[in-house]
Amino acid sequence: MKLELRGHNERYTVEQSMLNLFPGELPEYGTVTRAEPSWAVVELSEADGRAEIAVELSRDGKTARKTRTETLSGTDYAREGIRRRGIGRCFYEAAVALTGTRPPWGMLSGVRPDKLVTAALLSGASEADAARMLEQDYAVTPERAALALETGRIAARTARNLDARDIAVYVGVPFCPTRCAYCSFVSQSVEKSFRLLEPYVEALTNEIRAGGELARRLGLRVRAFYMGGGTPTTLSPGQLSAVLDAFENAFDTSHCTESTVEAGRPDTITPEKIAVLRAHGVGRVSVNPQSMEDSVLQAIGRRHTAADVARAMELADDFPYVNMDVIAGLPADTPTGFARTLRRCMDFAPENLTVHTLALKKGSRVLTEGLAIPAADAVRDMLDFAAPALRQHDYAPYYLYRQKYMSGSFENIGWGKPGTECLYNILMMSELCTILSFGAGGSTKLVDRDANRIQRLFHPKYPEEYISRAAGFDFAAIETFYN
Ligand code: SF4
Repeated sequence: MKLELRGHNERYTVEQSMLNLFPGELPEYGTVTRAEPSWAVVELSEADGRAEIAVELSRDGKTARKTRTETLSGTDYAREGIRRRGIGRCFYEAAVALTGTRPPWGMLSGVRPDKLVTAALLSGASEADAARMLEQDYAVTPERAALALETGRIAARTARNLDARDIAVYVGVPFCPTRCAYCSFVSQSVEKSFRLLEPYVEALTNEIRAGGELARRLGLRVRAFYMGGGTPTTLSPGQLSAVLDAFENAFDTSHCTESTVEAGRPDTITPEKIAVLRAHGVGRVSVNPQSMEDSVLQAIGRRHTAADVARAMELADDFPYVNMDVIAGLPADTPTGFARTLRRCMDFAPENLTVHTLALKKGSRVLTEGLAIPAADAVRDMLDFAAPALRQHDYAPYYLYRQKYMSGSFENIGWGKPGTECLYNILMMSELCTILSFGAGGSTKLVDRDANRIQRLFHPKYPEEYISRAAGFDFAAIETFYN
């Protein structure tokens, strides 16, 4: 989309609005000529303490224009915020006029739409005011505002019980049995990279040991442990045990109330691995069928069937808390097939059920091979079935997040039976505390909520790079952050 900014240089705000409302468009700056297929002119002028904003948008032969006036007040910082929100709102209104559709999350473009609610509740706002803010200031639909309130309430409650030095630990294992069609993650298929497993585990355990020393030195208190991926249960029982041993020996785990391991691919779960996890006190596993339709599983390149999921769920019965992940909008799926998947998952009565919406990721086979996926309307039907069905079975939403380029611009929701919510997911998604991350492909996120400060440290992306790097952990940046 050709973008022309007049009287300002708010590129970030305009680009975020464009990506949110027209996924797939790329920004290009310059002077708009009306012959172009897709363009926007975003104009700002100021006089007498007021900002006058005008946005004219054109796409697919249609054009829409909206104007807006904002009263500027407060500090320079506050005035900047008013200006930016005004530009975003005006762009949003022009896009709605152009397309005739209102995105469920309105003009919110970030990945954590409930973050504003959590912040408002923590600063003393009433629940009604927090929900009203989303509807009025950000044009969020009443249903989505209510959803954000439900999850934001849980995040605020969790935040009130955290100490400034509380952290969570994440350990990443970027290997999977095969690569799913929708995956763009760095995860490697073990068929191609089996030889890397052993050196990876060695580098990982070394890094965890060094990180544990650092955490003790800084007085950091681990509240939750999470091993994800990839598929951690791709590791052998001995390798799994080595990683869990390293964590238990390196860190003070006396305040760690939760230990989770993703056993995502049912074809990687064996009685021996379950025994290792239980012996190490792992209380939660996630078994992720994504679909219980064999035709869909085949279409997305998972080399397992729904029957394998049932077998894995029997093995997982040993754990107090089990999560299952499903995805709405997968290739070859239909609303009827998705409803069957969800019903079959609920029959297992897992404590948590996470409903993702397919995100179109660069580099995934869905995009590179142009696999057919259900239309946005079909995805909406799937999600419209999921929410009431889950509530009927006593599940409530406890965290949510969005990704870029999601089918229909919807969201991912973690549902849980009351009192079974995964603490790590809440801490991570709502950015409530530092997540110390180990392994390739992830990032450590340092969080200082009092100072409203977040710093990310990116880890080597690929296992080879991670293994060959002598020091896998940016100690200096972490020390500086906490000192
Ligand atoms: S299980 Fe997850 S990480 Fe592994 S290939 Fe599939 S989508 Fe990617």
